[in-house]
Amino acid sequence: MSGDLLSLVREDLRGFGGYSSARSHALDGEIWLNANESPWANPADSGSSCRRYPDPQPAPLVQALSRLYGCEPAQVLVGRGSDEAIDLLVRALCVPRRDAIVTTPPVFGMYAVSARLQDARLLEVPLVDGAAGFTVDLEAVARAAEQGVAKLVFLCSPSNPTGGDVPLDGIAALARRLAGRALVVVDEAYGEFSGQPSATTLIGEHANIAVLRTLSKAHALAAARIGTLIADPALIRVLRACQAPYPIPTPCADLAIAGLSPEALARTAERVAVVRSERARLAAALASAPGVRRVYPSSGNYLLVRFDDAQAAFDGLLAAGVVVRDQRAAPRLGDALRITIGTPEQNQRVLAVLAALEAAA
Ligand code: PMP
Repeated sequence: MSGDLLSLVREDLRGFGGYSSARSHALDGEIWLNANESPWANPADSGSSCRRYPDPQPAPLVQALSRLYGCEPAQVLVGRGSDEAIDLLVRALCVPRRDAIVTTPPVFGMYAVSARLQDARLLEVPLVDGAAGFTVDLEAVARAAEQGVAKLVFLCSPSNPTGGDVPLDGIAALARRLAGRALVVVDEAYGEFSGQPSATTLIGEHANIAVLRTLSKAHALAAARIGTLIADPALIRVLRACQAPYPIPTPCADLAIAGLSPEALARTAERVAVVRSERARLAAALASAPGVRRVYPSSGNYLLVRFDDAQAAFDGLLAAGVVVRDQRAAPRLGDALRITIGTPEQNQRVLAVLAALEAAA
């Protein structure tokens, strides 16, 4: 299966070893004079953890992430946010001006940005806006991937900004159909907020599935920039060779490891539960609020909301100090705002501001 998978990687990168860094060789020593580092710590570096270059893939962090996501360490690539993993995938798989990626707009913008930077072709299969909210037309995705000779299919689940999950059986069937042709990337940046199990469980049977996870959302570590790609070890090896020499700053790795302690994970789980119950409360309150046209069902930590007058709602919230995401430039979301679920008090404020706006209208 790995052979099939490697055939998706750019031919010129298949045997590529990447940069040979000072940390690439398993040497042991007492005095380290092999990387032109300073022998002294910076005066501000009280723990002296930053004097030396970091391990490109810090082993304790890889261990912690593989435990968190229920996979093998060899299946893990840690990057500067999942954004970096998206970019690495597009660069390593797509030959410029020849290969394509498939996306499902309206959806997270980085897939298209990475394709643009690589000069890869972009095949867009719009989400279907139906009674159950926005859903992916997996048959249309498969056809677009086959006909357009796509190397990568990006599925976002829960999808940002529309909120729906992509069913696991559909993902498995798509991967089976595209085996040897394309990698199906399931972006689960908001997976913790969803009731659906992770697509990571499918990788053993379908080597052409890769899963993106992040500590930026549920784990509240967006500034640490720790994203994870979970995929077949053969693909992980290729991407590690394509990655920047020392991508994970030591303070970020240390913070992430601490943030994945059993105590921190228990706290995170409590907060995820609050977000989920607040999401239901806010969705119900907004659905019956005047001026609101539609609240889409969401498995993420946000709600996509259509308004009679989205501009007035956006401006009114902003005037009250509440910043939400204006989706009006996104395709087919001209009257929609995306509202992140905040604390119960913050959500109450959103409802109060919207009620006051309607009363004044
Ligand atoms: N995927 C999705 C769907 C997102 O919404 C985001 C952030 N907005 C990311 C990936 C990137 O997250 P990060 O780089 O912080 O891991």
